[in-house]
Amino acid sequence: MSNMKVYVMANGMNHNSIKNDLVSCDDPKETFSFPSWTVLIQHPEGNVLFDAAAHQDPERQQIKEIMENLHMTEEDLPVNRLAQIGLKPEDIKYLVLSHMHPDHYGFVEEFPNAEILVSEDEFTYMMRDYALNRIPFTKDFDYLIKCRLNWKLIPGNQKTYKLMDGVTIYNFGKGHSYGMLGLLLELKSGNKLLVSDAIYTAENIGPPVRPPGICRDLDGWLATMNYILQLAKDLQAEIWYGHDYDQFNSLIKSTEGYYE
Ligand SMILES: [Zn+2]
Repeated sequence: MSNMKVYVMANGMNHNSIKNDLVSCDDPKETFSFPSWTVLIQHPEGNVLFDAAAHQDPERQQIKEIMENLHMTEEDLPVNRLAQIGLKPEDIKYLVLSHMHPDHYGFVEEFPNAEILVSEDEFTYMMRDYALNRIPFTKDFDYLIKCRLNWKLIPGNQKTYKLMDGVTIYNFGKGHSYGMLGLLLELKSGNKLLVSDAIYTAENIGPPVRPPGICRDLDGWLATMNYILQLAKDLQAEIWYGHDYDQFNSLIKSTEGYYE
């Protein structure tokens, strides 16, 4: 078992958000709060960042709801969270992007030495939708393309990708978006399975199952959810959901300590 430290970094809180978008509700107007966060893995073979939060640059960001609802302080910026634990943006070797939505790729260009790993299906179909003006964050993609980032695409038929000792990428396939990546961390304190928005919250699982309103492919989402639940059981792993308010509050934050 390798000696890694895992930091949970808070990157802001979304308030007054429509709950039905994340968890199907009887009242479609019900609102709730959910966290935006990233995970830093400090590993002898290099530092890994899982996701890159949401930025709030009005020149780029076009999704009004995200800008209005996300409460993000200076401290919440990923680079400042890293600085709190003594790391610089150049220190990130791998950036694993769970999927290409604005609340996850926000600061992806800030890590000059990072290889950015993303699902090939996600990348391909999101770039197609961008070219066809089917996504509401065109300016973000203009910017991402201009940055000439060091992308590494994980093909759909590659279900797992071992990044380093005790750190494995899982390619969950389609569901919430075209291609979702997760991360398995084998820690001394127990395995963690980071699933990001493949499952937003524990409430989605039920019973009864409550799929998210924002869902690219419902059958894919259900298959992925069941796959994740079985995987977590087989690996005896704790699932870390993408936007679960209660679970996030219960986790040790990077300002308090780390998991190992
Ligand atoms: Zn998200």
